[in-house]
Amino acid sequence: MDKKLIIANWKNHPDSLAEAEQILEFINDYIGTLPEKNLDLIFCPPFVFIEEVAKLMNTSYLVQDASLGAQDIASEENATMTGEISGPMLRNLGVRYVIVGHSERRWKIGESDDMVNKKLKLALSNELTPIVCVGERERGENSKEFLEKQINKTFAGLSAEEINKCLIAYEPVWAISTNPDSRPDTPESALKSISTIKEILGSDIHVLYGGSVNSKNVKDFTLHDQIAGVLVGGASIRKEEFVEILKQV
Ligand code: PEP
Repeated sequence: MDKKLIIANWKNHPDSLAEAEQILEFINDYIGTLPEKNLDLIFCPPFVFIEEVAKLMNTSYLVQDASLGAQDIASEENATMTGEISGPMLRNLGVRYVIVGHSERRWKIGESDDMVNKKLKLALSNELTPIVCVGERERGENSKEFLEKQINKTFAGLSAEEINKCLIAYEPVWAISTNPDSRPDTPESALKSISTIKEILGSDIHVLYGGSVNSKNVKDFTLHDQIAGVLVGGASIRKEEFVEILKQV
């Protein structure tokens, strides 16, 4: 069986570095007890903690089993961009992955498909693996039609080779735990959308599921070969719950 990818998107949490350290130490202690590893971890902390998290990951079990990701990247490289973090900055901190097109950025901050496309290209040109989030906004929306449009715009101008370097996170917006009335997608419906994504982007692409993943439902998703892993938001900073998720995979 291929290793499953577990991506921890800490969003704008925790509030202090001390808490971030506690989370990592707790997970590290658990990883240290595993005789065999069937998972790969990617931690995506907020920018302000990246440097310290990189150091913590270097001196522990996590060094073998976890990689560092960022939650965003600047959309321009040869322009002044106050407040933004560039691809070269991320590379120089040891970051290997970057989330682009997260629904909170698309819908709360107003990032367009065009902007996500620029970020995706800059991630690739900086040798960062993009974790590209896609997914329809409303429950009951025609996800096939939505995904076709969103994906065609998001991946415009990319070669098949470049597309295959990306990871895709299928995250229906209505399933993200912080949204009103959220609940996880069913594995059957997620698999249907994942197969649409593979039809559009090619069958070799790795697609993960994200949206209200917890220790009770994670296995329902990861047991399927077509699902490369999960992207975990809210539950990834609740250390006990996150370790429970890892135990289930
Ligand atoms: C996310 O932030 O990408 C996410 C999936 O969040 P949650 O797990 O909290 O639904």
